[in-house]
Amino acid sequence: MTAPRIAVSGVLRDWHNARRVGVNAAYVSAVAGAGGIPLILSQLMGTAGAPRALEGCDGLLLTGGEDLDPAHYGEAPSPALGAVDHERDRFELALFSAARAARLPVLGICRGIQLINVALGGTLYQDLRSERPGSIDHDPPAARDARVHHVRLAAGSRAARALGVERLVPNSFHHQALKDIAPALVATGWSDDGVIEAVEGRPEDPWLLAVQWHPEEMHADVAAPERGLFSAVVDEARRAANDRRGTDARRETGLVDAQAP
Ligand code: MN
Repeated sequence: MTAPRIAVSGVLRDWHNARRVGVNAAYVSAVAGAGGIPLILSQLMGTAGAPRALEGCDGLLLTGGEDLDPAHYGEAPSPALGAVDHERDRFELALFSAARAARLPVLGICRGIQLINVALGGTLYQDLRSERPGSIDHDPPAARDARVHHVRLAAGSRAARALGVERLVPNSFHHQALKDIAPALVATGWSDDGVIEAVEGRPEDPWLLAVQWHPEEMHADVAAPERGLFSAVVDEARRAANDRRGTDARRETGLVDAQAP
C-alpha cells in the first residue's frame, strides 16, 4: 500500500448563505503533500458514525478551530472563553476514542492537541492572557505563516525526530493551551514562557503526536521542518496499515490464530 488514508476532522461554517462542510485547505494540501490521501470527516455523520468512518482510514488528523467546552474537563466557562461547538466536541471525542481503540496513528494540531489532552483526562487554560498573565503573545495579529515565537523540543522526542530540529520558531494562533497534562501524554515542546507546545504518546501506546501551532500553513515551503510532522503520521499510518494487511493475509492462510488480537 503506497498512499494511506488520513481522516481529517472537518468544520461546519456558514459561507455565501449556506451551511458548508470543509476544512482549511492547508491541512488537505499538507497531508496530500506528504503522500497521504486526506478524507474530510464531518460532525454531521454523528458520533455513532465515527468508528465506522475510521474503518476506512489508516490515520487521523485532528484540526484547529473552536474552543473546547470546559465542561469536558469539569470547569465552568470563563468570561474569556471563545466560541464552542458542542456537536463538534462530541464528534471529535468519538473520533479520537475510535482511533485509539483501532490503534490508528493520530496527529493533533492546535485545537487537536487540546482535545487529545482533555480526552485523556487533562485540563486547559481557557484563556492564556487572563489565566497566565505574563505569557508571551500566542495569538498575535500576524500572517498565517509568520514565525512568531520560539519552541524548544525535548532531545530525541518523537516531535524532534519528526521535525528534524530541537528548536524552531513556528506560527501561533491560540488563546488556550494545555494546563494539567493527561497521564498518558508526555510534554516534549515548550515556548520560552513554559507553555506546552507539543505532546506525544508513550512508546507502548498507539502512535500520537500533537502540536499547539499550525504546521499545515508551511506546507508550500519545501524546506520547512513542519513538513516532517505530516510525513511522520503518513509514514506511521502506512506502516500500521501494512502490518494489519499482513496479519489479515496470514490469517487467511492459517498462519496466525484468527482469534489473536
Ligand atoms: Mn504558541
